[in-house]
This record gives sequence, structure tokens and C-alpha cells, in this order.
Amino acid sequence: MAKSQNGWSANDRSVIASYSLPGGKVSLRKGDVSVILLHAANRWHNEVGKLEWPGIWGYAERPIRGSTTTLSNHASGTAIDCNAPKHPLGVSINKCFTPNQIKALRSLVKYYEGVIRWGGEYSRPDGMHLEINKGASEVKRIADKIRSDMFASTVKNNVATNASTKKGTDKRVPDILPVVRPGDKNGWVGLMQKSLGFSAKDIDEDFGSGTRSALVAHQTASKIDHDGICGQLSWASLISRWGDLKLGSKNPGVEIVQNFVGFRGKECDGDFGPATKARVEAVQRWAGLGDDGVVGNDTRRAFAGLIKPLTTSA
Ligand SMILES: [Zn+2]
Repeated sequence: MAKSQNGWSANDRSVIASYSLPGGKVSLRKGDVSVILLHAANRWHNEVGKLEWPGIWGYAERPIRGSTTTLSNHASGTAIDCNAPKHPLGVSINKCFTPNQIKALRSLVKYYEGVIRWGGEYSRPDGMHLEINKGASEVKRIADKIRSDMFASTVKNNVATNASTKKGTDKRVPDILPVVRPGDKNGWVGLMQKSLGFSAKDIDEDFGSGTRSALVAHQTASKIDHDGICGQLSWASLISRWGDLKLGSKNPGVEIVQNFVGFRGKECDGDFGPATKARVEAVQRWAGLGDDGVVGNDTRRAFAGLIKPLTTSA
């Protein structure tokens, strides 16, 4: 099987599909490669310069320009050219990009941790060109990172949407709980203290050093980052202190669950009733889990953002 310069199998249309970008379509390699290149091209559109058509090139069965033997990475569908007429092969990047665009492109490429290479850095500059520079396992790792970041923004949008619609909306993704830090004084600190097992007289809603030590001890025992800050992962792990939760459970862990499924304020009474169960089941269906309404390890992982059911178009 023919291979392109970066080692991916080439000249094989069966691994190629057509994908949409702002303003047009481009052919790329299916699967994780397309996830990464489409993500990068969308970022180019938003951060470097609007994509202009024609001028976005993907799959092409051809050798590297100037070579008769080495196949271009375009021939394996692992490269994309953006705004080709503006950034021609062989033209110094300083002549065809503004300094801000170069800065934006370098920071864009950095996100992919070496899995994408920008042609602008070649000795023969090719400013339009982005290509995959690693094998399948690294490509999967970065595609997972993209899916994970997409998950986080989906959840954030969900929270914003639900904040602006009336209560009782069927939740399809877990809600995000606010990050609570040392020095904070509010009800969230109180909920954290309660779920850490503080006695009623010690729950003062004041995140002081004693509270921080208790949180760090919990984080250490749970083998998560023990930074003394309560974020989404810490909130989800606090639920586990109260065992698996189900209809009839009544404890501070339930109160956290109720917040994760979109209840707020007085609705979060720590009492696992039918309404809480229905919301938990909705989140479980969204996460691709069995919807038994029981909050066990997998559902806690979904709350923590560790289960990402997003699929790609390939
Ligand atoms: Zn190219």
C-alpha cells in the first residue's frame, strides 16, 4: 500500500469522506484525523482569517510539489490547505500573514501538541498547509482532547440555556457546579462542608483552612488532583462518600446529585424522590448508560465530565 510522507496509507478513496466547513466542503481522511483537521480549520476561520472558497483543499492524489517519488500528505487525506491563494507555497510567511495571524497560527498549532505541523514553519514555507505529523495513537489522544473540550463547552451552553428557560426542563447533560475556592463564603461552601461530613455546628459556609484540609484529604483519598479547590470532578467525587444513591436515599450526596441534574435552591432537599430519579435517568440516557436511576460509579463519572458520548461525523 502506498504511503504518504507522514506514513499514513495513501491513494485510497475508501478512507476519505466529504466534510462541511464554514462556506463549503472538503474531503479528508475519516475518523480521528478528520476530527483534528476540521477542528483546526474551524479555528483558522475564527482566529486567523475567514475561510475563503475556493481555496480550501483536502484530499488529493499527488506527490509533494517538486518531488516525483514522495507522496504528499494530501494523498492520505491527512493534510488541509486553508485560503491557498492568499498564502502560496514558497512565499515567506512574513509576506502573506500579518504578525497577529502568525501568532494566532502558532498558538493554534500548539494546542495539538505536535500532532499538527504548520507548513509555514518549513524551510520552503507553505503557509496554507496544515498536516498530521503523528501516528494513530497520538492522533486519537488529541481527538479525545478535542471531544473532551467540546463536551465542556456543550455543558456550559446547556447551563446557560437552562438558566434562561423555566425550571423543570428535562436535562440531557449534567449541569456544572460552581468552582469553590478557599476564601469563598456562600451556600456552595456549606454544601461542600456538609458532604465532607462536617457536623451541623461546623457548617459555617466559610472556606477556611480547616475546610481546605478536609477537602484535600478527601481529594487525596479519591486519587484526584489534591489542589484544595472544589471543581466539577471534586463535586462528583464527593457524592461517592455517600455510596450509591437511589430512590429513597436521603443525605448530602443526594443534594449534590440534585444540583448536577439541574435542580437549584430549595429543590435540592437531599431527598432522592421520583423527580430526582427521572432527571438522573435522563442524564444516564444521554451518557449512553443504562437508565436505572441509580447514581453509581458510571453516573458519577458522567457528572464529572469523564464520559463523553459525543460522536463524530465520520
Ligand atoms: Zn498542502
